Parts: sequence; C-alpha cells; structure tokens
Amino acid sequence: MSRAKIMIVEDESIIAEDIADSLESIGYSIVGIVASGEEAIVLAGKLQPDLVLMDIMLQGEMNGIAAAEHIQSSYQIPAIYLTAYADEKTLERVKDTNPFGYIVKPFEEKNLHLTIQIALQRHQYDSLTNLPNRTSFRGRVNEILAGGSQGSQGKLEEKKRGFLSLLPILYLSLDRINRVTGILGHSNGEIVICSVAKRLLNSVEGIDLLARLEAAEFAIILEPVKAKNDGANIAQTILDVISQSVVLEGYEIYVTASIGIAFYPEDGMESEELLKNANTAMYYAQQKGGNNYQFHRSEVNFISREQLALETSLRSALERTEFKVYYQPQVNIKTGKIIGAEALLRWHNPEKGLVSPAEFIPMAEEMGLIIPLGEWVLRTACRQMKMWQEAGFCQMRVAVNLSRRQFKQKNLSDRVSRILKETGLEAKFLELEITESMVMQNEAAAALVLKEWQQLGIKISIDDFGTGYSSLSYLKDFPFDIIKIDKSFVSNIREDRKTAAITIAIIQLAHSLNLKVIAEGVETPEELDFLWENECDEIQGYLFSPPVPAEEFEKLLKSGRRL
Ligand code: C2E
Ligand code: CA
Ligand code: CA
Repeated sequence: MSRAKIMIVEDESIIAEDIADSLESIGYSIVGIVASGEEAIVLAGKLQPDLVLMDIMLQGEMNGIAAAEHIQSSYQIPAIYLTAYADEKTLERVKDTNPFGYIVKPFEEKNLHLTIQIALQRHQYDSLTNLPNRTSFRGRVNEILAGGSQGSQGKLEEKKRGFLSLLPILYLSLDRINRVTGILGHSNGEIVICSVAKRLLNSVEGIDLLARLEAAEFAIILEPVKAKNDGANIAQTILDVISQSVVLEGYEIYVTASIGIAFYPEDGMESEELLKNANTAMYYAQQKGGNNYQFHRSEVNFISREQLALETSLRSALERTEFKVYYQPQVNIKTGKIIGAEALLRWHNPEKGLVSPAEFIPMAEEMGLIIPLGEWVLRTACRQMKMWQEAGFCQMRVAVNLSRRQFKQKNLSDRVSRILKETGLEAKFLELEITESMVMQNEAAAALVLKEWQQLGIKISIDDFGTGYSSLSYLKDFPFDIIKIDKSFVSNIREDRKTAAITIAIIQLAHSLNLKVIAEGVETPEELDFLWENECDEIQGYLFSPPVPAEEFEKLLKSGRRL
C-alpha cells in the first residue's frame, strides 16, 4: 500500500514539527505544513493530500473549522481536528461539520494513528457512495446519445458513428455478496465492494462510466464498440478482474459477478430501457450460476419479467393467506394403515392459479422468504397434527420439509422446540425432512443441529435418498431415523433391473442401521408389490392418495381406509 499523504495545518510550528516527525515515523508522508486556513485551502487544492490535520485556532482571519469545511466540500479531502481546548460550543460547531475525527491536545501517538486510520477508511467508503449514481448514469447516456445525433466533422464524426452503431450498457451484480457481508460484517463488505469497483476503474480499459445503483449493483457504460463481441470481451475482462482475490484483514476473499449486456440501439433507445434490459440479462447470468455475462434477449426479458411479477406476488402471499398446507398420507405397508402425513405447501395465486412448490420454493429461498414461510408451514402442520391426535388418531406423526436456508438458520432448534411447545405436539410425532446435500454441505454444523434434534426427540428423515451425494458412510455417523427412497427409483423398479437391485440394497442397508424406509411416489400396484416383497416399511404416493387439503385428509382418516 502506498503511504497516505497528510497535510498539517497548525500555527505553532514546534507542535507542527512534532506531529510531522511522529507521523513520518509511523509511515505517513507529510506533504505540507501551513499555519493559516487560507493557505491550507490553496495548498490542499494543489497537493491533494489524502487527509488534513486541522488545528482550530489559526493565524489569519479564517478558523480551522471553516477551512476544513471548504477543503472537504471542494476537494473531498477529509479533515481531522486537532485542538488544545474543547469547550462545548466549539465541539458543537465541529460536530456540525461532520468531521472525520477529533483529537484533543496533548494526545498519544497511537490515538492519532488510529484516528487517522479510521478517517482514511471511512473516507474510502464515502468515496464509494461518491461514485456516480443512477442519475449520473442516465445523464451520461443521454449526453452520449445526444452527441451522436448532432453530427459534426472529421474524426469526431467517425468516432460518433462508431458508437452510434453499438453502445454497450452493462448491469453488474456481485454474486452472493450477502454471504461476504454476513461473514465479514457490513463495513468490511463495503470495503470489498469498494476495492472491486476501484480495481475495475483502474485496470479495465474501455469503461466510460461506472455508476453504483445499489449496494452491490453497478451500471457500466462502455465506450462504443464496432461489434457485440468487443463488448463481450470487455465484460469478460471485467469478470476476470473481479475474480482476483481481495485481501482483507489477512483473509483472501473471492468475489464473482453476473453481468447483463444491452446494446444501444438494438436493445433500447434510451437509458432506462437499456438499463432494464441489461438488468434482465444479468438475472439470466445469475440463474446460470453467476460469474458469467449474458446478452439481452427478448425472450429472456419475457421470462424474467414474469418471474419478477411472481416474486412480487410471492412476497405478499403470506399476508394474503394464499398458502395452504396439504397432507399426503404415509401408509404402513404391512398393516395398510395411515401412520402419518407429509406436509406439502401449496400456493393459490389469484391470477396464476396453483403454483408448484418446485417453482416457488427456490424463489422463496432466494428471497429469504422461506424463513417465515417455512416456519408457518411447521406451525400449521404441528397444530393440525395435534388436533387430529386429540380427535383420536393418537399415534400419527407429521413430516415437514426443511429448506437449505432454514437448515442453516442459527437458532433453528430453538425455533422448532418453541413451535412444539406452542402447539402442544410431542417432539416424537414431528419428523423433519432434509436432503443429503444439506448435510454434506457443512457436516460439522449439520452434526450439531441433528444432535440437538435427536435430544429433543424429533425424528429425522433423509429426503430424495439416492439422488444427491452418495456418501453412504454418513448414514451411520448421523442420527437419522428414516430414509425416503426417491420416486425416481420407485418408478423404474419394474423396467430397470439395476434400479431394482439398488432399491433392495438401500432397504437392506437402512435396516442394518436400524433405519426405517419409506418409498415415495408409489403409483402402481406393481411398485407396491415389489416394495412389499422387499420389506420396505412405509409408502407414500398417488396409489393411495395424492397430497390433499386438511379437511379431506380428515375424511380419509375417519373413513378408516386402508391400502
Ligand atoms: P418432496 O419433498 O420430494 O415431495 C414429494 C413430492 O412428490 C410432492 O410434490 C408430492 O406431491 C409428489 N408426489 C407424491 N406422490 C407422488 C406420486 O405418486 N407420483 C408423483 N409423480 N409425485 C408424487 P410437491 O408437493 O409438488 O412438492 C415438490 C417439492 O417441493 C417437494 O419435494 C419439496 O422438496 C418441496 N416442498 C413442498 N412443500 C415444502 C415445504 O413446506 N417446505 C419446503 N422447504 N419444501 C417444500
Ligand atoms: Ca419431502
Ligand atoms: Ca422427496
């Protein structure tokens, strides 16, 4: 890192020399010492120091506060006040100027050092917010487009014709930045974002303007290009530059970005439209897993707009009580009796009708909505099951699906046990379904959570078994109770002998580990026969019943219907 340049404004030369020596000894470079506010303003403009140390009582007409205000507003150079006395009035005045630091003389060297560091760092945040914003972006696009249509002579004309043919507008969003801020804290997250932005400006050629739109989202105007491919090349350079690590507090942090590109005039004739289309293309890049760029395409536009609309209505769906929990019976294969139910979420959207959970659960997960939604499902299912038990179906259990994000929630076990208390359902009648990959993603954390559940007495089942990671060793390392054989196995049992063999092996493995086995998606009597012969414990599927609303499930219970 280069040495920070500091200017000292102090009318007592002995003190000034002292401070200068002390700062140089700890690695700062002193670019100037002046004794009056007037001189300070002139010199700050000339020398452009990174920081000004400002005494309040100075020679000449102007005091330090006025000088610092001037320097801050004209040159965006931060100031730290130094003063021998601190009466209330002076302090008030100082506070009004939003200073970067305030130090009372005499001071310790290490305090001054720390105050300077904080000021420099804060200023760096600030300069990030000082990046051009949406308004400047709009202004600049309009300027470029207007310039192009005016028409002039010679080289300029040629250049303009160049950019009139294609002006690339990029929408850039840093991937998973919430994870970075989650781990490092908000202010460090800002530093990471800031250094990424700076690095782009310093090392990528062909950027006309970089504007910050939101926390981790930027709009970039590139210089005009002849072909789309030239724009794509620059986008790729941007991705490469971003993916170099940022070092912060000794850690290497890697960030990536998703970029959407729209070209004037093809994808829009004015700034808002171009930005919106670049944004939808960025969305597409995100869906591809991030760290890539995508061109705007009209069909992308269509999909994302629909998706955006869906997201908006999903956000308010919980309040509008558009969700319902359905219950699919789980049946003991030997007795044929209903032994429990899996709670499955349904969304009745007034416009779109029934939306599949496969579609909206990932969306809710992305949006963070899955946390309240998942908790609502859990509470509803527990309350419902308690009611059925009180109505005489005493031994029934309910299985609830947990999403990845819920599973990672810190106080999940507390929340679950609170819901059990609240609804009065005994823990042993609740089964939580998780997937293999959720466990494998962070084995240590998963081990802790599962242990807590075990101690609470909750049953734990592995959903979609066999479709994810196939690391069987973890079966004995974690306290699972139930394995759910995925329906992709069940539906192939009859056609594919290998699948049949694997299914049998899974059942035997599970039994040898004292785990129960449920087969999902059982649709035909043949599938049932096979599972019965091979001693699967329970089944669930359309053959017996699809997921149904609570009222219908209740009818089913009361009818005493068996497999
Ligand atoms: P899943 O946990 O594997 O749920 C089983 C899915 O198979 C359900 O789809 C169910 O309706 C369907 N199914 C049941 N029997 C049969 C059958 O015989 N044949 C066929 N082809 N399908 C059958 P659904 O309800 O559409 O749910 C899809 C997925 O959405 C679930 O897969 C689960 O991962 C997720 N999901 C549903 N509700 C919730 C919830 O409350 N929370 C969370 N986190 N995820 C949920
Ligand atoms: Ca499930
Ligand atoms: Ca499943």
